[in-house]
Amino acid sequence: MKVKNNNKALSNKRRPEVLQKLLYEVLVELGESPTRPGLLKTPQRWAEALVTYTDGMTQDPEDHLNVIFQLEEDDYPSESDDMVSVDNIQFVSTCEHHMAPIRGVAHIGYIPNSTSRVITGLSKIARVVSVFANRLQVQEQLTHQIARAIDKHLNPLGVIVVIQAVHYCMIQRGVKQHETRTLTTARRGVFQSKGELELKFQEYLKLKINTNLL
Ligand SMILES: [Zn+2]
Repeated sequence: MKVKNNNKALSNKRRPEVLQKLLYEVLVELGESPTRPGLLKTPQRWAEALVTYTDGMTQDPEDHLNVIFQLEEDDYPSESDDMVSVDNIQFVSTCEHHMAPIRGVAHIGYIPNSTSRVITGLSKIARVVSVFANRLQVQEQLTHQIARAIDKHLNPLGVIVVIQAVHYCMIQRGVKQHETRTLTTARRGVFQSKGELELKFQEYLKLKINTNLL
């Protein structure tokens, strides 16, 4: 079944003043008194916070990934499959099923295209994570959206995205699993066909985690 992906639509119609009225009604429905001092400004705060949590809906990752550089041909020979990896990119997202926080880290590796030799700024990789995280999400989709954006805009030989996250909807409700982490992976290009590259990527992650130099 083809499901419409609302994340593709960039929305600018996000009005805190409308949202705050809706939360006022929710508080009444919960049996609260929205006019008591502690709650007086809560609808306004919540509305402004929700707009912030989802401000990735108003941004296009392309704006960040358009910042590209080209490696010199001599520095990056045509047969190279050397990897750029960026680890521990922290993010907070919002679960689209329960509107609860997702807190996690992303680890990303890509192998520049040996013909175009295009790379992007390291901070741009973190920005792309942030744009997609600041939308209503499920972790699997977030992982693939990041991989797809990097694949589309840098056209690398391959890209891999690994995300580890905790979901507060699993902590605060339902199964109440406090220690469970969810791990998701998305692969594109040579990472799909050459398993040894993923092992190499994992070795780099261990190298960084084990070092005390940073
Ligand atoms: Zn959830």
